[in-house]
Amino acid sequence: MQTLYITHPACHLHEMGSWHPECPGRLDAINDRLVASGLMDFIDEQTAVAATDADLLRVHEPRHLAYLREHAPAEGYFQIDADTIMNPHTLEAAWVAAGAGITAVDAVMRQTHRNAFCAVRPPGHHARPSQAMGFCFLNNIAIAVAHALDRYKLERIAIIDFDVHHGNGTEESFAGDPRVLMCSFFQHPLFPDQYQYPPAENMVNIPVHAYAKGDDLRFVADEVWMPRLRAFRPELIFISAGFDAHREDDMAQLGMVESDYAWMTQQIVTLADESAQGRIVSMLEGGYNLSALGRSAEVHIRTLAKL
Ligand SMILES: [Zn+2]
Repeated sequence: MQTLYITHPACHLHEMGSWHPECPGRLDAINDRLVASGLMDFIDEQTAVAATDADLLRVHEPRHLAYLREHAPAEGYFQIDADTIMNPHTLEAAWVAAGAGITAVDAVMRQTHRNAFCAVRPPGHHARPSQAMGFCFLNNIAIAVAHALDRYKLERIAIIDFDVHHGNGTEESFAGDPRVLMCSFFQHPLFPDQYQYPPAENMVNIPVHAYAKGDDLRFVADEVWMPRLRAFRPELIFISAGFDAHREDDMAQLGMVESDYAWMTQQIVTLADESAQGRIVSMLEGGYNLSALGRSAEVHIRTLAKL
C-alpha cells in the first residue's frame, strides 16, 4: 500500500494532568476519523518499536537521557517545567514515539510503503539536545532524520514543519548541517520565543504574524519554501505535522483550515515524487482542538495516500 500508519498503545498512557491540552484523546480523535471515514481500510497499520539509546544519542546528549530516567516517577507526576510533565508511562511513550520515526524511515527506504504517518505522542519538535520543553521530551523527527542520514547515507533530507510553533529543537539539531534543509512557518511572537534571524543558511524558518490566514501561509510555502526545496532536490522528506495552526485551535491565532492542510500536503507529495521516489515520513506534533485535529489529520493522511 501507499501509506503506513504507525502508532503504539503506550502513547495513550503518557498524560500530564486532566487539564493539559496535550492529552491522550488527541490520538483517539485522529484514529476515530480514520475509522469513521473508511480511510483506515486503505492504509497499513504497524506498531512502533522503541528507539534504542544509540538511536537517541545521534541527537541527544547522554546527560539528557540520564535526566529523564532519573526523574521518571514510579507514581504521580514529575514536573520538568510548567507544562512538560512526566508520569509513570512517559519514558515508554517517548521512547516508542521516537522509535516510530525510525520504523517509518526503514519502511520508506526499503520501499514497502511510499510514505508513513506516525500518530504518536509525546510530540518532539521543541525538545533540545539537552532539554525537554514544550510538551516534548525527545525530538522524534530529529532522531528519525539522524537515523536516515547515518543508516542510509542520504545526502539531502528536507524537513517541513507546519506546526504553529517554531521547531526550535529541530532547528538546533541541524542548523549548519548541509545535508538537511528545514522549512517552516510559525506564529511570532509565540512560545518558545527562541527564534532569531535564520541561524544558518539551511534554515528557511519564516515567522508570521498572528491572524495570518491560509492564503498567507500557502504564499510562504509556494514562494519561499518551494524554490529552495526544488533546488535542493531532497532524497527523503520529513514533515513535522502539527495541526495547531488551524483556525479553531486556540493555542494560537493562525487561520489554516482542512483545505489548506490538503493543499500543503499535496505540494509535498508532488515534490517527493519529483526527487525523493515519493518518500515522506510525517510525524504528529501539535493540534489541540480535538475535532479540528481529527479532520485535519484525516485530509493530510488521505492526501499522502493519494485517495
Ligand atoms: Zn505546536
